[in-house]
Amino acid sequence: MKPADKIQDLQYFGEFGGVNPSISDSSTYTFLSAKTMFDTFEGNADGCYLYSRHSSPSNLYLDKALAAMEGTEAACVAASGMGAITSTLLQLCKSGDHIVTSRTIYGGTYAFLKNFAPKFGIKTTFVDITNLEAVSEAITNETKVLYCETVSNPLLEIADLPNLKKISKAKSLLLVVDNTFSPLSISAAELGADIVIHSITKYINGSSDTVAGVSCGSREFVNAMKDVNSGAAMLLGPTMDSLRSASVMKNLRTLHIRMKQHSANAMYLAQQFEAEGIRTVYPGLKSHKGHELFKSMMNPEYGFGGMMTIDVESPEKANELMELMQQKNLGYLAVSLGFYKTLFSAPGSSTSSEIPEEERVEMGLSDGLIRFSVGLDNDIERTFQNMKECLQELQICEAATS
Ligand SMILES: *Cc1c(COP(=O)(O)O)cnc(C)c1O
Repeated sequence: MKPADKIQDLQYFGEFGGVNPSISDSSTYTFLSAKTMFDTFEGNADGCYLYSRHSSPSNLYLDKALAAMEGTEAACVAASGMGAITSTLLQLCKSGDHIVTSRTIYGGTYAFLKNFAPKFGIKTTFVDITNLEAVSEAITNETKVLYCETVSNPLLEIADLPNLKKISKAKSLLLVVDNTFSPLSISAAELGADIVIHSITKYINGSSDTVAGVSCGSREFVNAMKDVNSGAAMLLGPTMDSLRSASVMKNLRTLHIRMKQHSANAMYLAQQFEAEGIRTVYPGLKSHKGHELFKSMMNPEYGFGGMMTIDVESPEKANELMELMQQKNLGYLAVSLGFYKTLFSAPGSSTSSEIPEEERVEMGLSDGLIRFSVGLDNDIERTFQNMKECLQELQICEAATS
């Protein structure tokens, strides 16, 4: 069954028959007997709630829906994507362990692995994740986790999940995949991920009104995360608030419709930009290095996603173009993604600025790069015409001669 259908098929009712489940608005829960309270602490009383840092009815509904979407046994929502990423990695790794990951991952994840995790004796090697040989060579006896993003941020490189799974399986590693850029279109767990992470902040919630995250995986992993005595989700406290998880749940229900529109709009813009002779990166374009790979992994009806980049060669031109497009109300100069409005930013000076300049140059993250999270525009042809006028005004592309 397709991931969106699994969400569609879920039925939750409120306690008075409401079509939405009631929101649990409590931090703590009463017990009819002291014995049940003890059993709950020990993890032996299914269906009982203890304290909302551990779990709450609203969060469990969202856990279930996201696990259904990813096709995993269970899930554990968090108050941010970074909350999900850091608690997952700290759950899986101890001092002395090693992680292999891509050199083009999300800036916050990069900074965590490079600057923070070493304080706990967890070391990371950053490789070109599209080079499977380099991935294999980076693995040592201490390696515990192979971590990647399906579609990397901001270069939009595609991870070969089935082959990364083969590598990680052969070495008994866990494959952890951040699927934030490609919800629904890529079913990462089906392709081999042991744990699938999302920054819900982006497409899943889609309204740029909160930060949130989730880790989807086996029942055993999620139970370990929530363990009262040793679970990272319980002890580090990245808990999502119940009111927020109820609102995320409502947005999740329209994710499939939104993804189709984001993808169709991004495909159109990417094709048009490319036709104007502008260096354009979008997994849906034949010119994209990972195009065939993405096609081989995707659930086609949701498309290639809403993220694309163009390279206008200099940071000055990039800034001018973004300011002009914002003036003309074609989108907002903002980081993040998945909003109804197009968002654009220059990753070199914003979301990826954690990555040192020499490394940015080496990986091809040019300072003139503009990342677009293409919005839900009803008339994308009109949007492109207006964008083209901006390009012409700044002499990034030539004005029509006729
Ligand atoms: C935004 C983002 C994150 C971090 O999520 P937050 O919700 O901002 O904490 C992680 N991975 C990717 C790919 C992201 O885009």
